[in-house]
Amino acid sequence: MKYKIVENSPFARIARLVLKSSNVAMVLGRTIHLSGVKRDSFLRDKGWVAHELCHIRQFQEHGYLRFLWLYLRESMRVGYYNNKYEVEARIAGLKGEIDLPVAQKADSSIKPTELPLPVDIRKES
Ligand SMILES: [Zn+2]
Repeated sequence: MKYKIVENSPFARIARLVLKSSNVAMVLGRTIHLSGVKRDSFLRDKGWVAHELCHIRQFQEHGYLRFLWLYLRESMRVGYYNNKYEVEARIAGLKGEIDLPVAQKADSSIKPTELPLPVDIRKES
């Protein structure tokens, strides 16, 4: 899949400030915006990468603006954690972690946030 990574993204930084989180990955179209996490450490986290790549696929599948709308509507209906786009991405993330030991899997859970965008934070261990 074709995608781009932007480190120190101003968009992700705003999300990070709003969320008071130390790290944020946010997908807009084919671009993964990072703040508080370096490209290298992000790419090493297979589960996280698989999760965000799933959001990129969702953007491609539904179209840019349409997906933003669907994501927001889904969140308003069922909440962020149960948002079907986040559920799908979480499953993709677990599959991406298939090679990791169980202890590490539990550690690297990626949490959706309360923002009406596909913004995720990595739970600090
Ligand atoms: Zn997500």
